[in-house]
This record gives sequence, C-alpha cells and structure tokens, in this order.
Amino acid sequence: MTATAQGIEAITDRMFPFHSRHLLSAGDLNAVQAADLLDLADQFVALNRQTNKTLDLLKGRTLMNLFFENSTRTQSSFELAGKRLGADVVNMNAKTSSVAKGETLIDTAVTLNAMRPDLLVVRHSSSGAAALLSQKVGCSVINAGDGQHEHPTQALLDALSIRRAFGRVSGLTVAICGDILHSRVARSNVALLNTLGAHVRLVGPPTLMPSAADRWGAEVHHDFRKGIAGAEVVMMLRLQLERMQGALVPSTREYFRFWGLDREKLAFAAPGVRVMHPGPMNRGVEIDSEVADDPEVSLIQNQVEMGVAMRMAVLASLAARLENA
Ligand code: ASP
Repeated sequence: MTATAQGIEAITDRMFPFHSRHLLSAGDLNAVQAADLLDLADQFVALNRQTNKTLDLLKGRTLMNLFFENSTRTQSSFELAGKRLGADVVNMNAKTSSVAKGETLIDTAVTLNAMRPDLLVVRHSSSGAAALLSQKVGCSVINAGDGQHEHPTQALLDALSIRRAFGRVSGLTVAICGDILHSRVARSNVALLNTLGAHVRLVGPPTLMPSAADRWGAEVHHDFRKGIAGAEVVMMLRLQLERMQGALVPSTREYFRFWGLDREKLAFAAPGVRVMHPGPMNRGVEIDSEVADDPEVSLIQNQVEMGVAMRMAVLASLAARLENA
C-alpha cells in the first residue's frame, strides 16, 4: 500500500473518532471508533515505510510531551509521530520532585497551558493524573501512562499489531500474562480487546492479580500452561519490581520457572501463536530471549513500529476534531 497525502486527508476528514477532546482511557472508544483509528494507522504504517515520511496535517500545531516518569519508546514514538505530521514538538522531562505531587501537577499544567499548546502528551506515576490535568488545560490531553491505571495508545498499537498479523482481532484468544496487578498496559488492553471482540485471559500468580480481576471481563488463570492453552496471542508483561511494596515474588529465577515464557511453555499455545511484550523486557525473568528474538513468533519489534503509526493516527484525529470544534 502506498500512502498519499490526499488519501490520508480523505480519511481524517470523514472521521471524528473522539467524542471527547482527550484520549484518557481505552474504554472511551467504541468498536467503530477503534476500527477507524486502526484503519487510519494502517495508512501511516505505509507512509512510515516510504522515503518521504512527512505530511503537514499538524502544521502550526504544538505538541508537548510531558513525562514525569522515564520512557524510551513511548516518548520518542510520540515525538516522531508529531514531527512526521508537521507539528512543533517540545519534550519536557518533568521528573517528580519532593514537592507534593498534586500541587506540582496542577501548577505545571497551568504554566504549560499559558504557552498555548494544542496537544499535551502526559505520563505520570499517579493513576488519574492525565484526567486531572485535562480539567485544567485548554488543549487535548493524551494519556501516555498514568500509574497503574491506563496506557490507551499502547492498547491501540497492540491491537494494530494483532490485526495486521491475523487479519482480525475479533474471535482471537489473547492471554495477557504476568504482573497484571501493576500493569496499566493490561487494563487498557482488556478494555480495548473486549471492545474489538477478542477473548481475553489474564494469567498470573495470585499475588500479582488484582482482587477484582474476575470482574474485568476476562477469564482469570493461575496456571501458566492452562492459561495460554490454545491462545493465538500471548502477551507478556514486565515484572514491575519498582512498583512492588514488599516481596510479591520469591525470586526472579523462581518467577521465570513458573511464569517466564520459554519454548517449552509456548508449545501449549495455538499453532501459529504470536508473542507480544510492551517493553522494556526483563530477559530471563518474564521472557526467554530465544522466544523474544524469534521473528517467526515475536511481534515485539513490530509493536514498536506500529507505535509510531498508531500515535500519528491519534494525533491526527484529535487535531481534526480541534479543527472542527
Ligand atoms: N512501557 C509500558 C508502560 O509504560 C510497560 C512497562 O513499563 O512495563 O506501562
């Protein structure tokens, strides 16, 4: 597929996937809106594979990346996405200081708002931070990860990767495995995959499973091999040691023995299974390198590529809404 500027504009002109000015939660999207976004992202994948990767859809717009937590792929992916669409991009690495977090966030929001950005991409260690900020600013806010709560663009890029690998999302069994308790990726993925008609399983030890997980709309499993049995997609999560208070796992070696994905355990999944991981990976803890680096099985690098295209689709759609508001 070749992406042309006219082709992409024809799609962004007819779509308004966001009823809200912001993208705060994957659960805010219905199936039609999500499919529209995935279709648009497909166009941007084609554009990103061309020599000339830039358009001027966001010319004159200012995108601010406001990251209170470390990030490699998400921040650079939003930066590239903004630049490829012609926006002016500013990166603010605002790590949390000793100042009370609530105060810092609101003060920062008000200050940034006075600079009149159009799109604000926010990552913060507190759940609800992006939603709070969206109430204080006049621009569109995109949640790039708020504590253990949500990471909606990760779920969208994962859905894009799955849809391109299998030609559909609906009807597939997706097993999300590992540290569900601390994972915003799991929460956003359960919401979006359910909307798109997948069967979702949550697989992990009881200590790393939220107590209300059985009410998320997913099957809960505490046996790894049974949990991934027959699954077409196995999505591994990082063991988020930095978010753990006290020892929730005996040791990382022990964890790998029971919950780490290697070839032997993967054989329980469906033939043609694809493996995903949002990154960064703890090799030898939740995933074996032999599986992670196998191009026949692993979608992990593909997820990174889809991340840029998916974020371009989100930015373009929010900007189209701003244009017409
Ligand atoms: N990069 C993802 C996130 O920001 C996953 C992770 O950190 O493990 O939530």
